[in-house]
Amino acid sequence: MEKVRVRFAPSPTGPLHLGGVRTALYDYLFAKNQGGEFVLRIEDTDTARYVEGAEEYIEEALEWCGIIADESPKKGGKFAPYRQSERRDIYDRYTEQILKTDYAYIAFDTAEELDATRAEYEAKGDVFSYDNKTRNQLRNSLALSEEEVKKLLDEKTPYVVRFKMPVDRTLNLEDIIRGKFSVNTNTLDDKVLVKNDGMPTYHFANIIDDHEMEISHVIRGEEWLPSLGLHTLLYEAMGWEAPQFAHLSLILKPDVSTLINKENIDSITKSFSEEFVTKNSEFSFDESAELIKSFFSEVKSPRFKSMLGENEKDNALTAAVKQFLKKGLSGKLSKRDGDKFGFPVFPLNFTDYATGNVSKGYRESGYLPEAFINMVALLGWSPADDKEILSLEEMAKEFDLNKVHKAGARFSKEKAEWFNHQYIQQKSDEELLEILKSSDFNTTLSDEKLLKIISLMKERLTFVKDLTLDNEKGKFFFEAPVSYDEKAAKKAWNDQTSVILGELASDLENTEFIAENLKQAVHDFAEKKSLGMGKVMMPLRLSLVGELKGPDVPDIMELLGKEETISRINNAINNF
Ligand code: GLU
Repeated sequence: MEKVRVRFAPSPTGPLHLGGVRTALYDYLFAKNQGGEFVLRIEDTDTARYVEGAEEYIEEALEWCGIIADESPKKGGKFAPYRQSERRDIYDRYTEQILKTDYAYIAFDTAEELDATRAEYEAKGDVFSYDNKTRNQLRNSLALSEEEVKKLLDEKTPYVVRFKMPVDRTLNLEDIIRGKFSVNTNTLDDKVLVKNDGMPTYHFANIIDDHEMEISHVIRGEEWLPSLGLHTLLYEAMGWEAPQFAHLSLILKPDVSTLINKENIDSITKSFSEEFVTKNSEFSFDESAELIKSFFSEVKSPRFKSMLGENEKDNALTAAVKQFLKKGLSGKLSKRDGDKFGFPVFPLNFTDYATGNVSKGYRESGYLPEAFINMVALLGWSPADDKEILSLEEMAKEFDLNKVHKAGARFSKEKAEWFNHQYIQQKSDEELLEILKSSDFNTTLSDEKLLKIISLMKERLTFVKDLTLDNEKGKFFFEAPVSYDEKAAKKAWNDQTSVILGELASDLENTEFIAENLKQAVHDFAEKKSLGMGKVMMPLRLSLVGELKGPDVPDIMELLGKEETISRINNAINNF
């Protein structure tokens, strides 16, 4: 059997997004599952779309995910170079080869000429396509005489190489995920294979490299499915055996009703409205925002979808807003959705050098790489027995392209957070301490105390950093409360409370600060004063935490220590 070799072939046109990470992950899992090799190839022939830093970003992101290539630009390998811009001589050789076949021709049409032709077609209500119906009226080696072509070449007229799409052939294609389907070549155009600077386009370079690098399986995004006919014919033209193909479905936007809430409705309205008025400049920001917000406030209603339906009575603004929201709230997860809805769509932070814009990454948002890739893997693939928590090795063992879903996979922010929570529970307290210490958080607390805090709070954590940011999750261990939850205060504090807590504080002066003793001391105090435990515990908790939440009060007291505990009680007394 031939060796399984799979490649991930990103173009360095920007940061890798969730869809790209998933493609790389499935490429990797399939290769490992089959005992094969996983190759990283950088497809950088499109210099116009090249983004500085994108290649380094892709390498770093894959490393963070643990998706390690057997061959790559950095690592090298048997088929080096792995950057297309460095493979020009290989492409030149094959350009010559394909021009000797009946599958390619050269074309001299300039961009201006093609624009003019396009405009002519448009004026007649047609759409221009450079294909087997039009190629004979254009300036190429099929339409011009041999002498004319020779003259143009002698004059060094720039030209491109185009694929000569056969006339009226039915192509029977096969995709591992989607099965068999056919395409008629009359629906396909004569794609440019080599640009006028001599560089191949994606299509040509891609099949040459897949052949040269002995790729056995091409697993890539659904957006490349329409190119499968052309690619299949390119293999035929070159006389090569084609690899097998699998096209992955899209990742879809999350269900917006789970994303928009009272806290973020204004900021989400603002970003949607800004985008809306840039696209529809005839409307004012304020009236657009008002309308958009009114729709968003109904987002949890079962009628929401039908509210966005067209209605004859709608004025221009309403009709435009409805159309805009329908598009913006469903379909493919876009790079901008992250900013709008407040979740990352990139594995790592990405700084666009040109604009200085920073896009948020999963790593910097506090996700563990294990949790992140586990979440990504399950966007479109179901392991056996509906298992959900799997390590990279376990995923590789189980991965099966036949179990990859045909339908789009809906991203869910809650699910992503759920995975992180699960993986935090699997980490030892020591590992979590390391994570905490590697963040930019500073504390004077000893490791011993930090470990105790972690062990007390772990089960409540979605992110390790919550420990220092969120009162409910442990921030109060590091900072005395600066305010007290109003509802909690009403419940916990009455006219006598200050006196009671003052007396308790002086009893505590003589207590050893160990949770067990403290529990006993509070108990004894309550009994001595003939008070219910709640009358003492609740205001005590409020003084220490600022709310009526958190782990057992004696545990909190032990960790805070005598001085801090008494100082917080006094703060509360002064406050109320
Ligand atoms: N360079 C292409 C991309 O970035 C690769 C597509 C493929 O895998 O064939 O999407």
